[in-house]
Amino acid sequence: MHDPAEAYRRLLDRYGPQRWWPAETDFEVIVGALLMQQTTWANVERAIANLREAGLLDVHALAAASAAAIRRHVRVAGLYRTKPGRIKAFCRHLVDRCDGDLGAYFGRPTAEVRADLRAQDGVGPETADSILLYAGRHPVFVVDAYTVRIGTRLGLFRAREYEAVQRFFESGLPRDVAAYQEYHALLVAHAKALCRPRPKCRECPLLAACSFGRRQTS
Ligand code: SF4
Repeated sequence: MHDPAEAYRRLLDRYGPQRWWPAETDFEVIVGALLMQQTTWANVERAIANLREAGLLDVHALAAASAAAIRRHVRVAGLYRTKPGRIKAFCRHLVDRCDGDLGAYFGRPTAEVRADLRAQDGVGPETADSILLYAGRHPVFVVDAYTVRIGTRLGLFRAREYEAVQRFFESGLPRDVAAYQEYHALLVAHAKALCRPRPKCRECPLLAACSFGRRQTS
C-alpha cells in the first residue's frame, strides 16, 4: 500500500470515528499529554480526575502549587520524580508567556509554537505535536511507535525517524486538523486491536494491501 488516504478510509470504516482526545478543555489535553509518557491512558485519566477533584486542574493553580502537592495527585501516572516538576514548570511558562491564555499561546505560527513547546522540559516531538494538534488545533501529524509499526508493515514508508514519517503523512494528506486527529487515533486503535507486535492479520481490513500481512498469512 502506498496511499495514506486509502489506509485512513479503511481504518475509519472498520473502527468508526474515535473522537480522540477525550478531554473537557484544551488545558486538560495539555496536562494529559504531559502525563502520557510511559504509562497507560487509564492512569492518566485517574491523575487528571485527582487534579480536578483537588481544584488543581487550572493553569494558575498548577503554576502556584508545589511539586510535592502535584505529586500526590499524579503519582498514579508514574515517573513521579519528574512529571510533577515538569507540569508545574510548563504551567509557569504558560502564565509567564501569556497569562495562561491558550488562545494567545496557540495563536502564533505553527513552527513558532512548536519551537516553544520543544524548549520545555520533557516535551519531545510527539508530546509537542499532540499538544499542537489536539489542544491548539494546528495541522501537524502526530507520530508514535504505533504509526511507525503500522506504516512500515504496510510499506507506506521505510523511515523510522519522527520528522520523515511526519513529512510522509503531511505531504500525502490534505492539511486537515480533524482528519489528522482521527487518523492518529485510528492508528492507535488498530495497533491495539490487530496490528500488535504479533499481528492478527487475518482479521485486518488492510490485509490485501499489506505485504507484511500477506507474508504472515501465506
Ligand atoms: S495485515 Fe497485519 S501487519 Fe498488515 S496492517 Fe494488518 S494487522 Fe498489521
